[in-house]
Amino acid sequence: MIHPARIHRLNDKPARNGGFVLYWMQQSQRAEWNHALEYAVERANALGLPVAVVFGLMDNYPEASERHYAFMLEGLAETFQTLEKRGIGAFIGRGHPADVALKAGRDAALIVCDMGYLRHQAEWRAKVAEKAGCEVVEVESDVVVPVETASDHAEYMARTIRPKLLKRLDEFLQPVKTVKPRMNANGCEFFRGLGNPPRLGRHPSAGGDSPPREGWLCLGKDGVGVDGLLQNLKLDRSVGAGSKFKGGTAAAKKRLKKFIAERLAVYEAHSNQPQTDDVSTLSPYLHFGQISPLYIALEIQKADPKSRFLEQLIVRRELAMNFVWFTPDYDRFSCLPDWAKLTLKNHAKDKREVLYSREQLEQSQTHDPYWNAAMTEMRVTGFMHNYMRMYWGKKVLEWSPSPEEAFETLLAINNNYFLDGRDPNSYAGVAWVFGKHDTAWAERPIFGKTRYMNAAGLKRKCDIEGYVEKVKGMS
Ligand SMILES: Cc1cc2nc3c(=O)[nH]c(=O)nc-3n(C[C@H](O)[C@H](O)[C@H](O)COP(=O)(O)OP(=O)(O)OC[C@H]3O[C@@H](n4cnc5c(N)ncnc54)[C@H](O)[C@@H]3O)c2cc1C
Repeated sequence: MIHPARIHRLNDKPARNGGFVLYWMQQSQRAEWNHALEYAVERANALGLPVAVVFGLMDNYPEASERHYAFMLEGLAETFQTLEKRGIGAFIGRGHPADVALKAGRDAALIVCDMGYLRHQAEWRAKVAEKAGCEVVEVESDVVVPVETASDHAEYMARTIRPKLLKRLDEFLQPVKTVKPRMNANGCEFFRGLGNPPRLGRHPSAGGDSPPREGWLCLGKDGVGVDGLLQNLKLDRSVGAGSKFKGGTAAAKKRLKKFIAERLAVYEAHSNQPQTDDVSTLSPYLHFGQISPLYIALEIQKADPKSRFLEQLIVRRELAMNFVWFTPDYDRFSCLPDWAKLTLKNHAKDKREVLYSREQLEQSQTHDPYWNAAMTEMRVTGFMHNYMRMYWGKKVLEWSPSPEEAFETLLAINNNYFLDGRDPNSYAGVAWVFGKHDTAWAERPIFGKTRYMNAAGLKRKCDIEGYVEKVKGMS
């Protein structure tokens, strides 16, 4: 049974006499450990109807680049195949996600969606709830404790949210039961019945038509492959697809298994050792909902119930969800606590030894070899160790004309290059650089009372030259 706190009715319309139950998949892009999917199957079984899944694929998604699309589509192709095997028809609709959901759900008995915490994600769901002619239900599956169950306000820091999360863990840290669909939706054929049949074909380079800009696509079928679709999309190609990550649930689970077997034991000791690879590298998979945080937490608990990893995965990550959910301006300098804004303002006119433009930063052209290595890792792989992300952010504050400009630059680079960018964690991580969720420290030029980091600290605490060598091997 799905915990009722995960289920939110988004409108007060009843289910109607429709031909299927639609699961509009947007955030939780997986075919397992997905409360929204299982809820849709339960409701469909009760109504004697099949379940259909649709994903809304938008060209030029804000701040997304080819790197993000490639990873996401790889994951979706796998997810759709798994859904088909379960008798659940799954397809992509090209267009604005809310419009796709409304169009696909025109003849549905009800629409089930998953939950996203960013402003635009909430707005899309509100639009569907308002415009659909049927019941719309949101099911929260990408956190351990539902965000409004954990707290009813923006928490001050990890210390204040931790006890609230920990006291609800037994209740919410429960496996998700897989429900067998009673009716088969028979994949693509089912959706052709929705009208506007797609002109499916291969990419011109493969001797066929391009995937259509409008209509329904069954990824992986009828010649619509990830590569063809990727080439056909209008998107920012300045950050190439090449990254060391292969998208999808299977790849995520493989990483988790290897991490538990080989690295979990040293995870805490190496949390500030970026020359090692002793972290899970699961953040891109979590960002795209390709793996469930609940599944990860239970696997880690089995291996080591006291692991520090659970603090990062549950407390730190869900503090970020709490931040964006209860802070409407989470992507602007104004979101910072008053003490941080005041101290940074007091030091806004302090002399900066060097200033770098966004282009210089992006091309790793600073005087600091450690920072350059971090930026290179990010540019080449789409990933960076948490300890280097902290240093990377702090230096941009130091090298920008004003803290406001530093905030904007950091967020833009973060979201453009990190495969896990545009996540609640991205906004919380960048805001942390400027004092969010942190305390005041000794006062210094430029930084004021916000936490300071420098190269001498890196040299003292880790093998930073080893890190630089590691990155050379990547570029
Ligand atoms: C300036 C800055 C920018 C950041 N930008 C992003 C971003 O764009 N996307 C992103 O997902 N994370 C971001 N983080 C948070 C953190 O660095 C990454 O989540 C982490 O490094 C991802 O690597 P991992 O999956 O190997 O983490 P692991 O150490 O293996 O931890 C497992 C999971 O726990 C969560 N987690 C770990 N550390 C943190 C943390 N400090 N805060 C919140 N959650 C955490 C993540 O979901 C992570 O995947 C940022 C941090 C800073 C300081």
